[in-house]
Amino acid sequence: MITATTTKALADALAPARDGKQSIGLVPTMGALHDGHLSLISRAVKENDTVVVSIFVNPIQFNNQEDLQKYPRTLDDDLNKIEQLADGSGRKVIAFAPSVEEMYPEPVTTTYHFGPIEEVMEGPRRPGHFSGVAVVVKRLFDLVQPQRAYFGEKDFQQIAIIRELLRQTQLPITLVPCPIVRADDGLALSSRNMRLSPAARNMAPAIYATLCQAVEMSYCEELPDVKDWVADTLDTFHEVNPQPDGLQFEVEYFEIVNDTTLQPIDTWDDAPGIVGCIAVWLDGVRLIDVIRFRPEA
Ligand code: AMP
Repeated sequence: MITATTTKALADALAPARDGKQSIGLVPTMGALHDGHLSLISRAVKENDTVVVSIFVNPIQFNNQEDLQKYPRTLDDDLNKIEQLADGSGRKVIAFAPSVEEMYPEPVTTTYHFGPIEEVMEGPRRPGHFSGVAVVVKRLFDLVQPQRAYFGEKDFQQIAIIRELLRQTQLPITLVPCPIVRADDGLALSSRNMRLSPAARNMAPAIYATLCQAVEMSYCEELPDVKDWVADTLDTFHEVNPQPDGLQFEVEYFEIVNDTTLQPIDTWDDAPGIVGCIAVWLDGVRLIDVIRFRPEA
């Protein structure tokens, strides 16, 4: 494994791959790596000669300064995990961990617009978030020039945004969506999970359990009823299951949407592909998750 902290070192490390016309895969991350990230990296290592894993907490995609400050930073651990995965793989793996100044030597003035796909769910609640994501991903695409880029379906709307970014920029990069990795109890792995107290971590799997029950209900109940049931079940969870420290869920949104347009739908017949996307606050931490309603896995 090679660690590069400057764009020059990254370019030098990538030069042999470019000269030899070898395939390059890119896995963008914000670090605090867990098995979800590692599943993306493993797949990239299988499918490419050279893999770049970027570790960069991108300030311009945070609309909440407290979230940015509290975002976990575990670079040494992250590099160890990547090294273990790279070792013996026979592939060249480059960890790219630049500073903010290295990534943005000039003030960022570019903004991206994505139309209806950014006007739902995360978009209105995190103003500027997707433009900030697009700026950093486009910069990484330009620096790395990968053939393939790997993104997790946990951030379902982000994948739609990157797909649209690729359409707008016409870059010859294949987007590879990767399935959500969950803890044994069902909680979607997230770097933010480490900020949950033990009691909150115990409670958090109820999110996925509720979503799974919603899928069962979708075969006999109307869509609006299922949608309301999910939000009500989580918002009143602490009344039915008393929790220590006054812990309770607060659902920010739960939307059942067309999996391509991301627009909310009214009936189970409105789209061939349907997912439910949720954002829930627990213990001061914002958790997101996604469940597929149609077609079944
Ligand atoms: P992040 O470091 O949170 O920006 O995530 C980097 C990449 O890892 C994104 O493409 C995420 O969607 C993906 N990712 C994060 N958590 C998971 C997970 N539990 N399963 C699969 N992919 C994930």
